[in-house]
Amino acid sequence: MIAEQMVEYGQALKRLEHPTPVPQGTEVLIRIHRCGVCHSDIHIHDGHFDMGGGRQADIRAARKLPFTLGHEIVGVVEALGPEATGVAVGDARIAYPWIGCGACPTCDRGLEHLCPKPRNLGVNVDGGFADHVVIPHSRYLVAHDGIPLDLAGPLACSGITAYSALKKLGELGPNDPILIVGAGGVGMMGIQIFRALFGRGPLVADIDPAKREAALAAGAAAVYDPREDKIANRIMKETNGGVAGVVDFVGAEATTTLGVRSLRRGGKLVIVGLFGGAFTLPLPMFPWNGLSVEGSMVGSLQELRDLVAMVQAGKVKPIPVDVRPLSQASQALEDLKAGRVVGRVVLSA
Ligand SMILES: [Zn+2]
Ligand SMILES: [Zn+2]
Repeated sequence: MIAEQMVEYGQALKRLEHPTPVPQGTEVLIRIHRCGVCHSDIHIHDGHFDMGGGRQADIRAARKLPFTLGHEIVGVVEALGPEATGVAVGDARIAYPWIGCGACPTCDRGLEHLCPKPRNLGVNVDGGFADHVVIPHSRYLVAHDGIPLDLAGPLACSGITAYSALKKLGELGPNDPILIVGAGGVGMMGIQIFRALFGRGPLVADIDPAKREAALAAGAAAVYDPREDKIANRIMKETNGGVAGVVDFVGAEATTTLGVRSLRRGGKLVIVGLFGGAFTLPLPMFPWNGLSVEGSMVGSLQELRDLVAMVQAGKVKPIPVDVRPLSQASQALEDLKAGRVVGRVVLSA
């Protein structure tokens, strides 16, 4: 097999050849056709994560080098381990990458993506910047019939990130406005998924006028510039006392503060973005206003299945995709880092 591997943090990826793995036990060998390149690949490649305030989290202990990045994997089943069932050679599948230990109480609850002993593809174990990958069990493979190859992979990351965050808002009535903060890739996906789930558009805040324009075109009910003076007051007024929920796809001090200030009593703030920083709120505000704050990280296997069904039903439009050969993996990472990418870069193996 061929893999574009990280041999040193922060350095160009190297094309290395290894013997193609033979699946053992319940394992399934996937011949990869596409793998999306994600912003979190950049952080892993850097080896550290910006925690705000000049602090950095060193994340190098989570894997051994050389290492294969990539967690938005789509391919076909090429071989099955002796105990593998549930798929057949030739089946086209999306690989759910947020795999846990499969044996702890968190995994038992279906929350493998929050398992304390993660085996996440492309994060802890070798991922998709390659032509083959081993999946520990067929249950992590999701059929995507009717969804084009180029579009299927990102559903496993940006797709379920947006979907899972919006699901955390719970049941919403027609008079329960929602504010989405940040109309980047995940936020734009969020606008579409919100419309598909609730049959109307969310309010959207973004500092970039072009993104506000794009959000309106995608069906946002109204757009706001978070830098506008007293913007939370205006949102309060225009929503008759505040929004029922906020999903913050940025996760910076300013956006989270705006989110909390825009909430009505009983409202919920869901923090998704990992921009970093900190925010303070007087503790009595939580009980007085019945506020809740919840974090959301990627999504569960069931949420990926639900989202795939929603896309298959034609309820979510495709995002722009830039397909490149696997040999350009290193360049794709560089371009993403430098902000030279529109939509999603997807590597074709
Ligand atoms: Zn990702
Ligand atoms: Zn576990």
